[in-house]
Amino acid sequence: MNESKNFLRTIVEEDLKSGKCKEVVTRFPPEPNGFPHIGHAKSIFINFGIARDYNGHCNLRMDDTNPTTEDTKYVEALKDAVEWLGYEWDGNVRFTSDYFSKIYDYAIELIKIGKAYVDSLTEEEIREYRGTVIEAGKRSKYAQRSVQENLDLFERMKNGEFQDGEHVLRAKIDMSASNMKMRDPLLYRIRHTHHFRAGDEWAVYPMYDFAHCLSDYIEGVSHSLCTLEFENNRDIYNWVLEELNLEPPRPYQYEFARLGINYTVMSKRKLLELVEGDFVKGWDDPRLPTIAGYRRKGYTPESILNFCDLVGVAKANSMVDVSQLEFCIRDDLNTKVPRVMCVLDPLKVTIANYDGSEELTASYYPDDVPKEGSRVLPFSREIYIERDDFNENPPKGYFRLTPTQSVRLKHAYIISCKEIIKDANGNITEIIAEYHPTSKSGSDTSGIKVKSAIQWVSAKEAKKVEVRLYDRLFSCEAPQGVEDINPDSLKVVKNALVEPAVITDKPDERFQFERQGYFYADPIDYTDEKPVFNKIVGLKDSWSKKSQKTKTTPKQQVKKEQIDGEVVPMTETQKALYDNYINELKLNSELSNTLARDEQLSAFYKEALNALESPVNLANIIANEVARELKEHQLSELKFTPKQIAELVKMIDDATISNKIAKQIFEEMTKSGENPKKIVEDKGLIQISDPAKISPIIDEVIAKNPDNLVKFKAGNTKLLGFFVGQVLKATGGKANPKVVNELVSLRLQSAEL
Ligand code: ATP
Ligand code: MG
Repeated sequence: MNESKNFLRTIVEEDLKSGKCKEVVTRFPPEPNGFPHIGHAKSIFINFGIARDYNGHCNLRMDDTNPTTEDTKYVEALKDAVEWLGYEWDGNVRFTSDYFSKIYDYAIELIKIGKAYVDSLTEEEIREYRGTVIEAGKRSKYAQRSVQENLDLFERMKNGEFQDGEHVLRAKIDMSASNMKMRDPLLYRIRHTHHFRAGDEWAVYPMYDFAHCLSDYIEGVSHSLCTLEFENNRDIYNWVLEELNLEPPRPYQYEFARLGINYTVMSKRKLLELVEGDFVKGWDDPRLPTIAGYRRKGYTPESILNFCDLVGVAKANSMVDVSQLEFCIRDDLNTKVPRVMCVLDPLKVTIANYDGSEELTASYYPDDVPKEGSRVLPFSREIYIERDDFNENPPKGYFRLTPTQSVRLKHAYIISCKEIIKDANGNITEIIAEYHPTSKSGSDTSGIKVKSAIQWVSAKEAKKVEVRLYDRLFSCEAPQGVEDINPDSLKVVKNALVEPAVITDKPDERFQFERQGYFYADPIDYTDEKPVFNKIVGLKDSWSKKSQKTKTTPKQQVKKEQIDGEVVPMTETQKALYDNYINELKLNSELSNTLARDEQLSAFYKEALNALESPVNLANIIANEVARELKEHQLSELKFTPKQIAELVKMIDDATISNKIAKQIFEEMTKSGENPKKIVEDKGLIQISDPAKISPIIDEVIAKNPDNLVKFKAGNTKLLGFFVGQVLKATGGKANPKVVNELVSLRLQSAEL
């Protein structure tokens, strides 16, 4: 693969040229608290890719400083992911916990030079004292402790003499720094928890900000590449290395944009909820955006790396359309995998004028694919076709088999329908057909015109298989939680039929099932007795119709966004807006960036703000929903005004409607230009917050799910999410999630088995 040049590579090249660094050393530093996801794939691709291309090396380091959430099974999953993507880490897997002693010694040194102190304020007080972006903070009185006292207390913290939270170790920097992170950041905290590697040796654990820079230094990392949310932590990173006066070469931190994709959730914490709440079948469920999930589904490492390359490395966060990932896997498999036939919903066809059987030869690849190969395809009097490839009363434009329209059996003959056999209920159970002996594929002299070719299998030789049809796990682009789960994300077809060539004893086998999509022999459940195939992806993007995209190809789309999101520096005006958003309006960097860089959006935002003082909620809708509309339409074409958006947000703010319903209303506004309030009234979308109305629904949901109630009572408290989701669903998303949460939680406690 030919990775496009990006700003990180430019930096690396310059550092090598100027001699600032002799060898490129990077690291991939995950916290082992969950399975890695496609966002991690991007980080792996960047860190390992750069090291490889500049003849350096990349370390795999488990950032295991938080003993409460970490586990060796996650360490294994992380190793698997890196290997599967085709990369090799330098030496052994490393662990931050291996450096605990060294890091502890560095802390002692900081104390000795008066740059760190033990603070004994409560967590709450620490937060209060920190100040705000416009007000300076105030330093704790404990900052005046003597070096001796600090050394003594810190040692006793380490020895476990204090309770969790009683003391912390803090850097002494500047309580009025404009970068809030520099206001005496925490370096160590007390945690009486067993660590999965260090055991019970430590009662204090270093914070990310202290451990990370030092681990990088200890390992000789030259370029510490991380995601944008660490931008403000860079000052601490440099401060620590500087104050400790560490001998060069020192590592330097650079940030790139986090990858987000729509129709899914990404953080390990949210994925853990789905796994523990039984919403999916484990971390490698093919519907999850985990690397293990994609792998099990049948994605190839090449397709994922290609995707990471396509989305590029930019300095601005953006949401990437999942169809771009789907494009990458289709693109990869299109010329690689054999095309065979599978019938998912079989309808029997008896060819009355055909006796005996024959073996046809059918090519695995179409003419435009440069690969060769073919298989034997048995043909006989009894075959199966797809039930919906026959239609007794066809709509206009139906090109397949009908009582009066012939069709070609792919790789075989043309058939015509002679008779339809039905059961007592009027369901079609069989078609009696006639074949045309001179119409054989490849040597057709029949002159019969047909409009399409359909898949089929010979009844005697066909093999029964299970096919798992996966679709997106969430039904909306920016899912809020389990209430947005797509109820049809998995359909299991138990009795699909495949032609014999599909039966495989090779692991890792992928096929295109003609006209259906790409499929993968499930690496775990596939057996000779019960072959199981997972749907990797369909042949076309079936979701694009719904979102009325323009006709650009995914490749073009990505390239365009890449250019838009590239490291183009902000203009003075944009920068001023950005700073104002961050500092005064408290928007996060992602929202600020999107709004500040787009003149139309920032103007729209300003006008909406004039109507309603709700900066964060307005920004959310404008940077997401409104921005999407503006990509497809001119400003003058929009049917809604900033004032109406303000009205919409006002209803969210005062809990008249939920976030979810707000999106529905927004859709309506884009079409009809109607006032949001009126839409809410007309459609009866007002949020339900009255417990008297919600409680009966909760009782009903609990009564319907006795098994989950048992599991909940047995300690699977994650199922709270399940019940909440079901209740929200039952109200069409109209119930107030906060109220539902509280009520469900109360009801579950008191419910009896
Ligand atoms: P999560 O919120 O999913 O748990 P994290 O950032 O806490 O993610 P880590 O295990 O700490 O996950 O991340 C390891 C590395 O992967 C970090 O350098 C982080 O910046 C990077 N990373 C995590 N998520 C993404 C993402 N969505 N896009 C790009 N890089 C990511
Ligand atoms: Mg994390």
